[in-house]
Amino acid sequence: MTEKFNFCPFASHGLSIEGNAKRRLCCHDLSAETEELDINFSHLSNKVSAQLKQNNYSTHCKFCIDLEKKKLSSPRQEYISLYNNQQKNDKNLIKFLDITLDNICNLRCNTCKPLYSKSLTSEFEKLGLKYTKAKTLKTSQLLEIISKLSNDAFIVLTGGEPFVSQQTFRFLRDLIEKKDTSQMTLRLFTNLTIIPDWFESIIPYFKEIKLVGSLDGHGAINDYIRFPSKWDNITHNLDLMSALVKKYSNLELDIHSVLQVHNLNFVSDFIVSLKPYKNIFCFVPSFTIIETPHLFNPKILPQKILQPIQKKQIENLEKILNSIEQNDFSELAIRRLKKIIKQITTIESNNSTSTFIQFTSFSKMKDQFRNIDIDNYYDYFFKVDI
Ligand code: SF4
Repeated sequence: MTEKFNFCPFASHGLSIEGNAKRRLCCHDLSAETEELDINFSHLSNKVSAQLKQNNYSTHCKFCIDLEKKKLSSPRQEYISLYNNQQKNDKNLIKFLDITLDNICNLRCNTCKPLYSKSLTSEFEKLGLKYTKAKTLKTSQLLEIISKLSNDAFIVLTGGEPFVSQQTFRFLRDLIEKKDTSQMTLRLFTNLTIIPDWFESIIPYFKEIKLVGSLDGHGAINDYIRFPSKWDNITHNLDLMSALVKKYSNLELDIHSVLQVHNLNFVSDFIVSLKPYKNIFCFVPSFTIIETPHLFNPKILPQKILQPIQKKQIENLEKILNSIEQNDFSELAIRRLKKIIKQITTIESNNSTSTFIQFTSFSKMKDQFRNIDIDNYYDYFFKVDI
């Protein structure tokens, strides 16, 4: 780590609310510990701030600590850069808000759960899978949160799908009505299947809008992982969003992807498929390796399957890296390519035949339920003698 890990502004000035209306440290805390929502006080945040100050370590911050140890950028570093930009940070105001407004979503992505997509509820029930129920905040709670936001707040809205949920529109309408939002930044995660009519009208009210498209693959891989979205529709919306990015200087688009068993073999093709947008946004997405559900982590792949995929992907990614042309996003694209190469290189198979069999049976069961079959793309899961 290059600097001391003794402070995180999210822990001291942030409010993060889960899909079950409980408070958590932040969305990067892998312990998934939550507490009853108190907008003004968090035992967890105080505990972690004190731990960091005393010994530079907290198990809750393992995600950021591990990234920084590998000399990769962490969310903590981003929060520090945003925090340092401010002249004063009133401890009683919320500088960072990260909130899941509800679980209304039109997709059933293969690694998601009912807490984030209501559409998955009946599937989980029919397949006998356990799940946590979602809960939405009361309007009075949302209004209290709005009243406590600092004038330069950094707000992250996740879902559900914020562009499908009416809650998003109501929250943003109330925020714009009740506060001066001209110095606020809004980061909004979307699956890019829908762009609501109201979206363009809110853009001028914010200092910046950072739209994050969650995409995990292209073509049939997208249609499988982010079921039942269609890649043609996604590219249509990428074109529409690109036009808005050109029109509004305070709007930017970025792509975030989750690296998992179903897209590991297609990562380089996916990146190449986004190259036509290279002057609008960074065509290399920001990748995170999935932690839960653990059955989708690439390390469940047996060595015999994993190794050739790693070799092929690293070769392809290096070719992309060597062909990067200079533009506004090239530095970021290079950084991200180096990061994904490192991420793929360091995946180690856990060589557990039983976990792999559990994964293939679970995938088959889910595919049957959804009446889909794209074995052609995934035959290496089934044809290798393990
Ligand atoms: S260091 Fe990372 S995990 Fe810890 S509170 Fe900050 S952002 Fe969250």
